[in-house]
Amino acid sequence: MAIKITEECINCGACEPECPNNAIYEGGVEWALADGTTVKGNFTLLDGTVAAADQRFAPLSTDTYYITPNKCTECQGFHEEPQCASVCPVDCCVADEAYEETVDALMAKKELLHA
Ligand code: SF4
Ligand code: SF4
Repeated sequence: MAIKITEECINCGACEPECPNNAIYEGGVEWALADGTTVKGNFTLLDGTVAAADQRFAPLSTDTYYITPNKCTECQGFHEEPQCASVCPVDCCVADEAYEETVDALMAKKELLHA
């Protein structure tokens, strides 16, 4: 299950540098698979569409920091706990029930992002 940031976010920015996958973006900033990963060429997104690694996508939030589920692995393969949730001062990094993923699936995503 990916992690999401709720509207309780106070935009402190503490979580962004902690993410091993660069899955966290400031509100209003477009995201791309290639940011902070080794992805080159094409990549299949969670919704099944194929996108170029350097293609930039519309922000999921304009007011607060957000996490793209396409890059969140719950920190599997890097840390015991989701690092964003660990550092967030207002506990607004929570499980995103829209994206149920097994540990194996999260590890496979991690391998794709960091080949
Ligand atoms: S759980 Fe880990 S991989 Fe997912 S957004 Fe938070 S820091 Fe990044
Ligand atoms: S650490 Fe929490 S409050 Fe700070 S930017 Fe990240 S999600 Fe928002």
